[in-house]
Amino acid sequence: MFFVLINSSFREPFCVTRFVFLMVAVSCLINSVSRLFSEVLHLFTTIFMTLSKPYTQNHLDFDSAAQETALDISHELRTPLTAIQGALDLLDSGRLGLLTEQGQRMVSIAASNVERLMRLTTTIEQEPNTIFNLVSPEELARLRLETELRSAVAHGELRLHYQPLVSLATCQINGFEALLRWQHPTLGLLAPTEFISIAEASGSILEIGLWVLREACHQLYQWQQQFPDRFGNLSVSVNLSSRQLTCIDLAAQIDQVLQETGLAAEFLKLEITETAAMNNAEVGKNVLHQLRSLGVQLYIDDFGTGYSSLNRLYDLPLDVLKIDRSFVQQLDSERGEYLVRAIANLARSLGIDVIAEGVETQEQVLKLQSLGCYRGQGYFFAKPLNSEAVVQLLC
Ligand code: C2E
Ligand code: MG
Ligand code: MG
Repeated sequence: MFFVLINSSFREPFCVTRFVFLMVAVSCLINSVSRLFSEVLHLFTTIFMTLSKPYTQNHLDFDSAAQETALDISHELRTPLTAIQGALDLLDSGRLGLLTEQGQRMVSIAASNVERLMRLTTTIEQEPNTIFNLVSPEELARLRLETELRSAVAHGELRLHYQPLVSLATCQINGFEALLRWQHPTLGLLAPTEFISIAEASGSILEIGLWVLREACHQLYQWQQQFPDRFGNLSVSVNLSSRQLTCIDLAAQIDQVLQETGLAAEFLKLEITETAAMNNAEVGKNVLHQLRSLGVQLYIDDFGTGYSSLNRLYDLPLDVLKIDRSFVQQLDSERGEYLVRAIANLARSLGIDVIAEGVETQEQVLKLQSLGCYRGQGYFFAKPLNSEAVVQLLC
């Protein structure tokens, strides 16, 4: 577009003039963008300088580096701006060739934009700290991850690992929990704790969550087709974020995923954290009822870490309470025993099952059974495995 404008702005061809005009056009573009998104410009300049000055990652140096960086930015801006201003004066005076009317209009727009950029440069020089207070190195890293996460699905960077859920008495596997991983191009394999909260805050969790559902259902269906003897009766649990629960068409989306992948609803379990289940009042409750009526089961994850209201617990259509691993870890104390027994009794009186999370020792396996918990998952049985390792484990 700029090249077309530049070409049509001169009465006769003159390449030096066109080059100058190109500079002007680019400056206009940068400045229009910066006017609309001044925060983005601040962020961009900060990212740019942080990348080029790794020592700003260090907290102690951050303030002094910020000042120095601000001066660098202003120098970087001032020199080309002065050159552009000179070129504009030449263009305006007609010494580089005669401009069309449209060309003259562009020159005057460019002149006012350059003036604005000059004022920005002066502000940076006078108040170097203001620009940097906006973004700390931690926030910057988070923002970078947030941006990269938006394209992680499209770039095929997400993976699912599967951790077996077993019967404590027989050690027989009766399902898997699908756990998300991000194969980041430079940072390696990232655990969900490093990016789920970012995805939730930015909203990309909705796209990611749908990908997880599709992938988990597709994978289990494939296994069931390939190895009906081994996988025919196994289920897969998928974690839902609280953001997903606020989608009124969540049940319709899940129904569609089941149709598309061919997996029967009885083999899909959905895990919702206690906090999400309790917080999402009426909308959440309706969505949970809709999900249940599809035929999928609902598990409450990390139970015991949130603030459950017994009233609400009774009202929700639940199938399993997953006892948080912090309680399982305390099973060698009276207190831990008491808490796990209390959760198991509560589940029994609600008519639902319990699964212990984070089982790591034989003693915990035995203690859990004596307290009325007969299903579990944890490193004692298996860590989360990639799909090839799952097939090796079962076949
Ligand atoms: P969670 O759903 O409670 O999953 C169990 C976590 O405990 C997993 O961590 C698992 O690797 C870990 N774990 C299992 N057994 C043991 C054990 O014996 N000892 C110890 N120390 N840890 C054990 P992971 O994979 O890092 O996932 C962390 C959390 O991230 C999950 O907790 C879940 O809340 C969330 N998450 C994972 N995948 C997804 C996803 O697809 N969507 C959403 N919204 N959240 C997810
Ligand atoms: Mg879970
Ligand atoms: Mg959990």
